[in-house]
Amino acid sequence: MTTLEIRDLHVDVAGSDTDAEPIHILKGVDLTIESGQTHAIMGPNGSGKSTLSYAIAGHPKYTVTSGSITLDGEDVLEMSVDERARAGLFLAMQYPVEVPGVSMSNFLRTAATAVRGEAPKLRHWVKETKEAMTELEIDASFGERSVNEGFSGGEKKRHEILQLGLLKPKIAILDETDSGLDVDALRVVSEGVNKYKERENGGVLLITHYTRILRYIQPEFVHVFVGGRVVESGGPELADELEENGYVRFTGAGASA
Ligand code: ADP
Ligand code: MG
Ligand code: MG
Repeated sequence: MTTLEIRDLHVDVAGSDTDAEPIHILKGVDLTIESGQTHAIMGPNGSGKSTLSYAIAGHPKYTVTSGSITLDGEDVLEMSVDERARAGLFLAMQYPVEVPGVSMSNFLRTAATAVRGEAPKLRHWVKETKEAMTELEIDASFGERSVNEGFSGGEKKRHEILQLGLLKPKIAILDETDSGLDVDALRVVSEGVNKYKERENGGVLLITHYTRILRYIQPEFVHVFVGGRVVESGGPELADELEENGYVRFTGAGASA
């Protein structure tokens, strides 16, 4: 069993100009995720959800000023980005980056080699990727294309979930994997996440703006995220309340999600 524990996490982001003051975004986040659990983090735009995911993954622009992140007691904040991935943390980014000149198949094999500590045997690897791509309804020709270059929003998200299925992390952070997906793509992507959960008994942190994806991927825990921290935690009924009333109760009258 794996536990990701986040305690009183405070994070600054560097301003866009080199001489700009850092901005204090996360203001004391507490969260514990265990294997087999699905946690949804729901919050309005700009509340710091992506900042939380970047801080966990180790993005250099985000500075942890206090608090802790541990994975089975190991200090995640002491680890490099690579070490975090090898330790079993995975982030599907809200805006996946394009990597011109690097083919999908090369990228995936390199990532799998880095995470597994040895290159997957070619014959197994071909079979493994083929099956994973079929499940996600990704055309085989995508293997030869540059990573995310010219991909539609839905194709990028499928590619993120393809990585999830192949890298088999212990804890997966999915940042707005639902945004920009039509209903068919949402179903395929959600099935991919649910298969990962079943096969790996992974812990999932599902960051989302909308309740729609929660019909496909069911969380046991729902956290409302406002102003850089978790302001309320509960079960699925909390998502139902958000669906009905939005974030007004948490952000103050007149505010909207
Ligand atoms: P969310 O994912 O909930 O929409 P974000 O974490 O993306 O929120 O952003 C939280 C706040 O931090 C926003 O006000 C955003 O403008 C600011 N912010 C995030 N990243 C940066 C950055 N790299 N440079 C400047 N401001 C940033
Ligand atoms: Mg946003
Ligand atoms: Mg975001």
